Amino acid sequence: MSRANLPQSFDKIDEVRIDTDILIIGAGNAGCFAAIEAKRLNPHLKVTLMEKAHIDRSGCLAGGMDAINTYIKKDRTIEDFVRWSRSQAGGLIREDLTISMAEVLNKPIEEWEEWGMPIKYEEDGEEYKTRGKWDITISGSEMKVILAEKTRQTGCEIINRVVATNYLMEGNKVIGAIGFGVRDGKVYIIRAKATIIATGGAAGLYKPYQNDGNDSHHQLWYAPFNVGTGFAIGIRQGAEMTTFEMRWCATRTKDFNGPIDTISVGYKTPMINCKGEQILKTRYAHLGGDAAPRYIRANAPMDEWREGRGPCYVDTTHMTPDQIHDMKYDYLNERPSYVLFLASRAQDLSKEPIEIYGSDPYIVGGHTASGYWVDVKRATTLPGLYACGDVAGGTPNKFVGGCAAEGLLSARAAVDYVASVEQGIINEEQISQEKDRIFAPGFRHSVVGDGVKPREMEERLQRLMDEYAGGVHQFFRMNKEGLEYALRNLKILKDQVKYLIATDLHELMDAHEVIDRLDVAQVLVHHLMYREETRWAGWQTRADFPEKNDQKFDCFVNSRYNPETGDVEMFTRPYEQIISGDRLKA
Ligand SMILES: Cc1cc2nc3c(=O)[nH]c(=O)nc-3n(C[C@H](O)[C@H](O)[C@H](O)COP(=O)(O)OP(=O)(O)OC[C@H]3O[C@@H](n4cnc5c(N)ncnc54)[C@H](O)[C@@H]3O)c2cc1C
Repeated sequence: MSRANLPQSFDKIDEVRIDTDILIIGAGNAGCFAAIEAKRLNPHLKVTLMEKAHIDRSGCLAGGMDAINTYIKKDRTIEDFVRWSRSQAGGLIREDLTISMAEVLNKPIEEWEEWGMPIKYEEDGEEYKTRGKWDITISGSEMKVILAEKTRQTGCEIINRVVATNYLMEGNKVIGAIGFGVRDGKVYIIRAKATIIATGGAAGLYKPYQNDGNDSHHQLWYAPFNVGTGFAIGIRQGAEMTTFEMRWCATRTKDFNGPIDTISVGYKTPMINCKGEQILKTRYAHLGGDAAPRYIRANAPMDEWREGRGPCYVDTTHMTPDQIHDMKYDYLNERPSYVLFLASRAQDLSKEPIEIYGSDPYIVGGHTASGYWVDVKRATTLPGLYACGDVAGGTPNKFVGGCAAEGLLSARAAVDYVASVEQGIINEEQISQEKDRIFAPGFRHSVVGDGVKPREMEERLQRLMDEYAGGVHQFFRMNKEGLEYALRNLKILKDQVKYLIATDLHELMDAHEVIDRLDVAQVLVHHLMYREETRWAGWQTRADFPEKNDQKFDCFVNSRYNPETGDVEMFTRPYEQIISGDRLKA
């Protein structure tokens, strides 16, 4: 599709208006499964997917995967799964949500196999081949294409290359969404009886360590176009959010940001420091050693660096040539460029280990518990709105299978809901204001001709968050004064949004990405300030409160932005234990 020019004035903006039963924002993993399930339950419903990129290769699955991290094998139970997930998350998960997700966890994975995605089997041919306790290995390079094709076959309406920018509201009820076409420059106003948000998590809030301002600008681990818009549009309407402070920081290949589990879990290669000491075995034996929770595994190499024992590595020097060959093959399924990266360094892994480092922090509800506060049906606190996948909070360790499973759950609830509701009434004043807001950076460019480029503001935001809100260059550490500094400067950046300029539709998308990131960053900093303890070192390290404080903080920290005052209200919700046992043990 060729690219249209930016509209030069308000009256030149073309509109597309659509009415649908269920609108799904984000045609990624969870969004596609939600669409398939909704059409399966009621083929007469009109289901519309609004996707920023193109459904064939969008979101986290775009480049393929080599594993599905959560699958419940025959000899394991839902209780085992909850205990494992709970212990990995330092004892803080929504058990009700985790149970409901686990009940349908295997279904989408088995369907994927039926549709043609190869899953590897153990030698006896009976069970899927496992990598760790809950992971199974797949040949998933084409998994998104397969899922997209299946979604298309249901007959749902797919609108590619349209960026959602806000919900349509009737009072506090969500009645659809508005967005703009990144190729055609039109405004899309989609009215729906129920809306499902499935836009993934937030990347690019923090400066990545590879960001040299040039080639590596988007050398992120997470999908770079998932910028937290799903959170931002909920925040702006006062949706309740949970646990943003439980950020996802991971151990990654230094200078590449590639996943490490493929090597360390898949091939049992230990993490070592510059002295050759096995970091997890020697220093974290009391927390499970190599099987320590993920936040420990992310933080351990960074603590080694900080204490003068870096660089750190995963020790591949004991791998056999066959294992090295197989490992590279695994990467071809998920990160083909990683094999090129190794080749470009002429690195012989049997002689030279792979250097590792921490990633920049992300807000990803499929890994940690950050996101919309939802009930077991995945209904958010805004009537008419459901959330699933990386954008929904409370259920860490969802990964591929759990996000897909939540897609099913949110669709089931939305199908029930639309049976008894009428279309909402569109507020034309809201549409007019939103059209103005969407195209303001373009109008500024054509009228004033000068201003702040989205990339300039993005770099300022990322550096601010990195230096004052616990980024990787600060070894993930933060304190009250630094966070207050971050908040003050976020406010200044938000005041400068009016100076943003966009010269074309792509830059207009960049402008809205940074605007959305600012809203997410502000709420995140409030969460980081509120939790005056260190619960998940690395993911959340308060240098001024280095200990855990169970008396005050063994609970969920939640927030609600007040659209009238601009204040972020912070409060807690109690932990509800359903599955017995020590919450820190699997
Ligand atoms: C590099 C990488 C490796 C991973 N490896 C594994 C692994 O090995 N095993 C495992 O189990 N899990 C893995 N995961 C995690 C897993 O892939 C994700 O948690 C899960 O797939 C997320 O699903 P989702 O539907 O929430 O998000 P996505 O699949 O990312 O879907 C979000 C969709 O929303 C769209 N979107 C975003 N903003 C807008 C907007 N404003 N308007 C319209 N559309 C929008 C995006 O384009 C995208 O299509 C990995 C993730 C990444 C990034």
